[in-house]
Formats: sequence, C-alpha cells, structure tokens
Amino acid sequence: MSGKMMQQQLTIGSLIKHAARYHSATEVVSVETSGGLRRSSWGETEQRARQLASALGKLGVQQGERCATIAWNNTRHLEIYFGVAAGGMVCHTINPRLFPEQLIYIINHAEDQVLFLDKTFLPIAAKLGEHLKTVKHIVLMSGRDEEAAALVDGLLFFDELIETGDADYRWPELDENTPSSLCYTSGTTGNPKGVQFTHRSTVLHSIGGNQPDGLAISATDTVLPVVPMFHVSAWGVPYVAAAVGCKLVLPGPGMDGHSLVKLIDGEQATLALGVPTIWMGLLAALADTGSKAESLQRTVVGGSALPPSMIPTFRDKYGVELIHAWGMTETSPLGTLNQLLQVHQDLSAEEQAAIRLGQGRPPWGVELRIVDADGALLPEDGETQGQLQIRGHWIVDTYFGMEETALTEDGWFDTGDVATINAQGYMVIRDRSKDIIKSGGEWISTVELENTAIAHPGVANAAAIAARHEKWDERPVLVVVKAAGADPSEEELLAFYEGKVAKWQVPDKVIFVDALPLGATGKVLKNKLREAYGDVLLA
Ligand code: AMP
Repeated sequence: MSGKMMQQQLTIGSLIKHAARYHSATEVVSVETSGGLRRSSWGETEQRARQLASALGKLGVQQGERCATIAWNNTRHLEIYFGVAAGGMVCHTINPRLFPEQLIYIINHAEDQVLFLDKTFLPIAAKLGEHLKTVKHIVLMSGRDEEAAALVDGLLFFDELIETGDADYRWPELDENTPSSLCYTSGTTGNPKGVQFTHRSTVLHSIGGNQPDGLAISATDTVLPVVPMFHVSAWGVPYVAAAVGCKLVLPGPGMDGHSLVKLIDGEQATLALGVPTIWMGLLAALADTGSKAESLQRTVVGGSALPPSMIPTFRDKYGVELIHAWGMTETSPLGTLNQLLQVHQDLSAEEQAAIRLGQGRPPWGVELRIVDADGALLPEDGETQGQLQIRGHWIVDTYFGMEETALTEDGWFDTGDVATINAQGYMVIRDRSKDIIKSGGEWISTVELENTAIAHPGVANAAAIAARHEKWDERPVLVVVKAAGADPSEEELLAFYEGKVAKWQVPDKVIFVDALPLGATGKVLKNKLREAYGDVLLA
C-alpha cells in the first residue's frame, strides 16, 4: 500500500525564495540611518541576501556560526536576516540599549564572528573593542564611509562586502532543525539568556501567527513593523512578510510619533506593529498634525500592558482596529492574539473592547495552562490566577549554551507571568510573578492599580510596587510621574481608587518622581523601584 507525500524542509530560504519568485517587484521601503528613503524590492532583497551569504563564506564564516547585528529596522538588516539564516549561519540580533557589560557578555557568549552595525552604534562598538574575544570582522551597514573607517581598524562596508559575493550563489539545502537566529532576553537580574530559534520553529511561527485570527497579513497589506528587529525578530514580521509577499516599510531610527505619521501617510501603511509607548507617541502626533492616518486599518500592540483608553481612541478617532498580543523572547514571540469569536459578534462596541483589552487566545501551534505554586492545574474560569505556562512548536526548550532544559518535568515552559484564562481560552495577564503584591495572603495585581492611576488626568505614568509591611508582609505603593502642568495630591489619587478596586487593594502610599527607570526594551524596572522604595512603609 504505497502512497507518500513530498517531504520538504521548513526553511527560511523557502520564505525568501517564495517572495523573490512570486512577489519580486513588491516594494521594501526603508528609512536610512543617514536619512532619506531607500526603495528596494523582494527580488533585490533576495539577490543581495544571496550575495551576502556567499561573501560571508569567503570571509571564512562557517555554517552554524553566529553573525551579530546592532541595527535599526532597515533593508540591509533585512538582507542580513535572510542572507545569514538561509545561508546556514545564525543571525544574532542585539539590543543596542543593553549596558556595555551586557553587550560584551552576550557577544562573547554567542561567540559572534561578525558584527554588523548601523552608523549610530559605531561608537558603542569602538568602546567594546578589545573586550570582544571572537569577533573577526566589523561591518558598517552602508557604503564606504571614510569618517567611520578612521574610527575602527579594519572596518568593512556592507555594500562593498556584498560585491565580493557570487551573484549566482544558490541557497544550501538545510535541515529544518538547523538553528537560524539567536536573541537574548533582556533579563533584569543575572546574565541575559539566549533563545536560539530554528528554521522550523520560525516557519511554523510565521504560518501559525499569521492566521486570519492572528496577524492576518496578506499580499495586499503594507506593513510597518515599528517593533525593533532586535526585539524577537520584530515579532517575526520580516518572515511573515516574505511568506505572503506584502509591501514592507521599515522605519529606521525614526520611531517617534511625527516620523511615523509621515511614513504611514507617505507609504500608505495598512498595518503597524509596536509596543504601547510607540502608539502613545503616534496618537499624540496624529492629534498634533491633524492627520487621520487614512490608510491605517490595524495596529498590533504587545510587549507590555495596554492602556485601556487605547482601543476606543484608535477605533473612534481613526477607524483603526487595535489587536492586543502577548508573548516573550522564549515564545518567538507570538503566544496569544486577541481577536473575537462568533459569539462576541452581537456585543456592544464597549463590551467587545473589554474583551479585547485582555491578551487574547493562542493560535494553532501553542497551548496555555495556569498552575499553582505546586504545579497543580488551576481552573480556567476567568477568575482564578495562576502561573502561566506554555508549550508549542515555537517555544524554547533549552537556553543557548546551557545543559539543563528550561521546561517543567512534564514539558511546559513557565513564563513568569501570572494570568487568568477563561473557558473560551482568553488569557489576561495580571502581573509578572515577581512583581505581584502579596498582601496578607491575597494577591494584588499591579497592572490593575497602574491602569487605574493612568486613567487620572494628572498622571503621565505610574508603577505599583510591593513594599514590605510589618503586618501584611507586602502592601502596594504607587510611584507616579505627574502629567505636564498637573499637580495631583496623594489624597486625590488614592480617592480616585474608590469604587474601582476593592478597598484593601488601594495603595498605602503615593510617591512622586520625575521619571520611571526603564530597561532596554522600554519596560519599567520594578526591581529598581523596589530597591529604592521597598522599605517606605516600615517604621
Ligand atoms: P520580552 O521577552 O522582553 O519580550 O518580555 C516578555 C514579557 O513581557 C512577558 O513575559 C510579559 O510579562 C510582558 N508582556 C508581553 N506582552 C504583554 C502584554 N500584551 N501585556 C502585558 N505584558 C506583556
């Protein structure tokens, strides 16, 4: 009884080959680091990526070795994504906002052979210099630049480097379990840990995450990933874009609201993706310029909790649907996306928005569960909070260079988030497990306290932290940045919680600060706040 289907490997090479074969002329537009727009296409991207892979081989880079990038979202970065990975090497994207010690640690830990840099980051590289043990070549992502050449000995230039590659180089046949890219977590404590993705995990993430109830990117879209390519592969958008052959717009260093308005209107972007602070900047710039962002249909937001006002503001002022998503470096990152079900269709706009404020439900390919401190399963009733665990085709198993698995005994990854899940599978993040406030045995969600505070017109930003307490172990303290020109008092802010949260959840104290400490991916560093204010309630 013979009968058999073709078997092909799920590779990143197959994505870029598809884009070049069927969407060759479709544009890839990018804001250059030096300013101005560069117009390329999927055909040109694939051609240059192949030449790059060939050139790296000639430089002596071996299959499986890491080539690092410290770069903005731009076309050369895209060419590196595909050239390095489809060429059988590993593309290691690095967050430029890490501290120099962390940069040195991860470059040496990854044993990077080549370091690709945008000119903005050349001073960083010049400083790291002798501390880098394995880097053999530093490549500036531009044409020849004499000023830069004077800064770093032996500096190579991207456009010259690819000229040394063979124009008729052909992608190697790779096993789908070959590593393709590497990204370190921005861990707030201890050394960063590397998550190494494979061709297979990347392709499955691209297909699974782009279902109609997911990112839903099609060939008719013009997609603007504002989320950095150094932050979990810009949520996988470059790969999805190649798989569907959409027009791609890369914002370069211009991630402020006014630059984005110009780019959205100029290139007629239909979908944009980024973290909440980016959209706060965009909304302010839209109000300022009077642009209605006519072309924009959807924005995807994730990376940290979504301010409740954002869904109605995008919807009512600009006719833009906001899709909330959750994930982490260890999950490639798409873990959940928030799209409605048929049973939600008749709900009012406000009821729908309330559901969509949560982090959403998993696409095919991943599964979620919540457990208690002993690992026992908790009910998915939308109310019981527990430690969120995940498993699936694009979830980490073992961190890069480590021996022991990162998983539980029964094969799940513990996210470090505390969440509820309801009967329909919709997940809501309540907190990070290390941030949640444990007051007299009850848990208080810092996310909820912060959302309430931010809704007060006198508050620009707020963070709730656990402060040590003699009687209750921990009690909430609110750290507030006042809105420009406003001067709310502590009493006024605490009174604002009345009727919005249970009485025992209202913070014990408000501390006013000029700014909140932010980490490399723009998230508030609550451990720093706890260090500073963790004892304010003790006598
Ligand atoms: P990272 O690995 O740097 O992307 O950080 C992942 C963490 O960011 C998650 O474990 C969550 O705590 C947080 N996070 C990501 N997306 C969301 C979201 N939509 N809402 C709340 N927290 C989020």
